[in-house]
Amino acid sequence: MYQIEGNIYDIQKFSLHDGPGIRTDVYLKGCPLTCVWCHSPESQPFTPDLAWMEIKCIGTEVCGLCLEACKFGAIRKGEVTRNLKGDDIIYPIVDREKCTVCLECAKACPSKGLYNTLQHVSVEDVMLKVRQDKRYYEKSGGGVTISGGEPMSQFEFCKAIAMACKSEGFDVALDTTGFAPTEHYLEILPYVDLFLFDLKHMDSERSKRLVGVPNEQIKANALALANAGARFQIRFPLIPHLNDSMENRKATAEFCVTIKDAIDVVQLLPFHKMGQTKYRRLGLKYRMNVSPPSREFMEETLELFKSYGLPAQIS
Ligand code: SF4
Ligand code: SF4
Repeated sequence: MYQIEGNIYDIQKFSLHDGPGIRTDVYLKGCPLTCVWCHSPESQPFTPDLAWMEIKCIGTEVCGLCLEACKFGAIRKGEVTRNLKGDDIIYPIVDREKCTVCLECAKACPSKGLYNTLQHVSVEDVMLKVRQDKRYYEKSGGGVTISGGEPMSQFEFCKAIAMACKSEGFDVALDTTGFAPTEHYLEILPYVDLFLFDLKHMDSERSKRLVGVPNEQIKANALALANAGARFQIRFPLIPHLNDSMENRKATAEFCVTIKDAIDVVQLLPFHKMGQTKYRRLGLKYRMNVSPPSREFMEETLELFKSYGLPAQIS
């Protein structure tokens, strides 16, 4: 299983929000859902992607290797701008219409200012990083969280990471949209201690319009896993005007009641704009022109979930 390969876009250490204790988050690339509020747009495509990070770029005047590397005329010099250190600098601009994602510019870039968001790795490559923090997992009751994207979309790779972690004694959480074949969830269940399971909209038609897929399979998977003994942290992102109606909040709470005994906690996640800069890195337009929900709204939602006898928290 250590030789199995797959695609990730990141591994983050010392995570405190994706399961119990201190964790290493392994982010698998690609997702069948298209949530407009996604705070990791680099996670969505299954294919390589060119990203540019301002903080790492040293500018076209001292470097400019990306301009020379691009054979498609897709990179030009931008205007003089002031960088975070207060220096005037000229940054490259990628014309996404002309870019073929050949990634020659990323190969030429000496500082990883331009980079491919896709990393092709083996399970052993992942485990080399995971093992480094073994003692933090032991001390904090933490472990490894396999996330994405939708990690179950690369099922064999995802299962092999879970199996490798379990065989080495690490706690495993799986962060999932719930949108994958039921038999895959049941197959991976013996290697997963906790499912971080998203519920986005309880109305299937609205779900289709909002995230690109209906919700019947998602609900069926939650029920099948609960019946098979899985433990859940349910994650309900509250997105203003998209899924925060009283009707949907009540319907979500009512669905949670049907698997109540399997739920450790329902995390109520207020919409935030922290992923906004990532859209710029990828040359994408950020379309969430709304404010995060108020504290009062979140408290009211918390009380609503508690009134159903659910162990809820605001994250
Ligand atoms: S990835 Fe795009 S910008 Fe970079 S060298 Fe290839 S075509 Fe040019
Ligand atoms: S090669 Fe990299 S560091 Fe150099 S100008 Fe281009 S993006 Fe910036």
